[in-house]
Amino acid sequence: MNTSIVWFRKDLRLKDNPALFHSARSGPILPVYIWDETLPEQEEGASRWWLHESLLSLARSLSSTGSPLVFARGSTKEVLVHFAKRSNAQKIVWNELTEPWAKTFDLSLKKELLSTGLKVETYPPDLLSDPESMMGKNGPYRVFGQFWKRLRPALDPSAPFPAPERIFPPEFSVISEYLPEWGWNPSRPDWAKEMREKWIPGEEQAHMTLNTFLDERLQSYEKNRDRLDHEGYSMLSPFLHAGEITSRQIVRATLDKMHEHPGWQNDGEKFLSELGWREFSRYLLIHFPKMISEPFQPKFSSFPWKDNPEALLAWKSGKTGYPVIDATMRQLWAIGYIPNRSRMISASFLTKDLLISWKEGARWFRETLVDHDLANNTVSWQWVSGMGVDAAPYFRIYNPVLQGERYDPEGIAIRKWIPEIKGLPNQWIHRPWEAPEPLLKRAGIILGKTYPAPIVDHSYARQEALALFGALGGKGQKPELMA
Ligand SMILES: Cc1cc2nc3c(=O)[nH]c(=O)nc-3n(C[C@H](O)[C@H](O)[C@H](O)COP(=O)(O)OP(=O)(O)OC[C@H]3O[C@@H](n4cnc5c(N)ncnc54)[C@H](O)[C@@H]3O)c2cc1C
Repeated sequence: MNTSIVWFRKDLRLKDNPALFHSARSGPILPVYIWDETLPEQEEGASRWWLHESLLSLARSLSSTGSPLVFARGSTKEVLVHFAKRSNAQKIVWNELTEPWAKTFDLSLKKELLSTGLKVETYPPDLLSDPESMMGKNGPYRVFGQFWKRLRPALDPSAPFPAPERIFPPEFSVISEYLPEWGWNPSRPDWAKEMREKWIPGEEQAHMTLNTFLDERLQSYEKNRDRLDHEGYSMLSPFLHAGEITSRQIVRATLDKMHEHPGWQNDGEKFLSELGWREFSRYLLIHFPKMISEPFQPKFSSFPWKDNPEALLAWKSGKTGYPVIDATMRQLWAIGYIPNRSRMISASFLTKDLLISWKEGARWFRETLVDHDLANNTVSWQWVSGMGVDAAPYFRIYNPVLQGERYDPEGIAIRKWIPEIKGLPNQWIHRPWEAPEPLLKRAGIILGKTYPAPIVDHSYARQEALALFGALGGKGQKPELMA
C-alpha cells in the first residue's frame, strides 16, 4: 500500500476534502500541517487565534479517525521531504488555494518535490466554478450581476465527499511539534477572552452553525441580514475561511432546504448570491491580482488620502463620537466579527468621512477579524471606497446616524457595546451631541469626557469627499443621501 502525506492548508476538515478522501482510499496517511513563515498573507491576530483552535479541533478528529495530525514549522518543501523520508511516504497530496501567490508557489513546489522522486497529487480549491472558463465577451467578468447570471443556473453541486471512516497511519511515525507551544493562544494580555466565549471553531460547529441558520434564519434572511440589533445572518464566514466547511456544502444544503420550503425562495436566493460574492471576490483576485495593493480603477491611485493617525486611532478604538461606528469597532475588537452592514458603514466612515486610505482599514480588519479573508476583504474595501470593480458609486456615503436609526432603531447594539451612553433615550442614542443638556446630565454623559464629541462633522466631511472623488472622475452622476 502506498503511503501519502496529506498536507493541510485552508481545508481544516474531514468531510468534502478531496485530497483526504482520495488518499484515504489508496493507503496509509500522514496528515501534516506546516507553518511556513516565508509564505505571504498568513493569518495574524484574531484569525490566527481561530486557526489555532481550528487546528486543535482537526487534530482531535484525525486522532479519533486513526492518524494523528503532525505539526511542523519551517520551509514547506524541506518539511515535506523530511517527513516523506521518515514515514516512507511516496506521495504528497493537497488541495489548492485560490490566493494569487499560491499558484506560482504550488507549481514550483510541485517541481521540486517531483525532482526528489516523490509523486504529487493536487485537487482544486473550494470554488463553485472554474475561474479560467468563466469568461464574458471581453475577458473576465467585471460586473457581479453578469457573473452571477452565468453562474447561478449552473449551481448544483454534487453530494460532498464523505469523511473517511478510518485513516491508517504510516508504518513509521514522525515526531510532531506541540501546537500549544507556538504561542498562538494569547494569555497576557488575553485579548481572545470574548472570542473564546463567542465561538467554537472546528468542523463540527461549522455544520451546527449551518444547520441552525438554515432551520431558523434562512426564512427571514432578506429582511434581517442587515439588522445590527440581532443576528439575522449565518456567521459562517470564519468557518469558511479556515476551510472547516466548503461553499459547495453550504450551497448544496441551501438548495435542498429551498426545495423543502418553496416559500423561502427569495431568502434562499439572496443568501446564495452572497456566497456568489465570495466566489466573485476570489475570481477577481485570480484575474486581477494587482487589486491586492492597488485600486482596480487606476484613476484613484493618486487619491489624496489623509495621513491622520489620531483619527485612525479613534476609528480603530471606537472613539469617533458616532455611536454606530464606535459600537461596530468595539464589537470587532471584542469578538473578531461584525456583520456586513457594520463593515460597510465603518469602511465608508473611514474612507469617506475621515478620508483615510482603504488600505489602512483593510489592514486593521486583517488583524482583528476572525474571518479575515484576502479576497473578500480586498474586494469589499475597494467596493465601499468606490475604487473597485463594479464598485459602489463614489457618492454613496453612508450617513452614520441614519444607518444606526434604520438598522438598530432601539439602540440595542449601541447599549451593548457603549455602556457609557446607555442611559440616553432611543431618540438620541444615535446622535448624543444633539441631545438636550439636561437629558445628557441625567444619563451621566459629559460629551468630550465620558464619551467623545464627533471627531468630524458628517455633512461637512461628505461635501469634501464628494469634491475630491468627483475631481478624479468617480463613477456616477448625481450625489444622493444614503439612508
Ligand atoms: C469592508 C468589508 C470588509 C470585509 N472583509 C471580509 C473578510 O475579511 N472576510 C470575509 O469573509 N468577508 C468579508 N467581508 C464580506 C462580508 O461582510 C462577510 O463575509 C459577512 O459579513 C460574514 O458574515 P456571515 O457569514 O454571517 O455572512 P452571511 O450574510 O451569512 O453570508 C454568507 C457567506 O457569504 C459570503 N459573503 C457575504 N457577504 C459577502 C461579501 N460582501 N463579499 C464576499 N463574500 C460575502 C461570506 O462567505 C459569508 O460567510 C467584508 C465586507 C466589507 C464591507
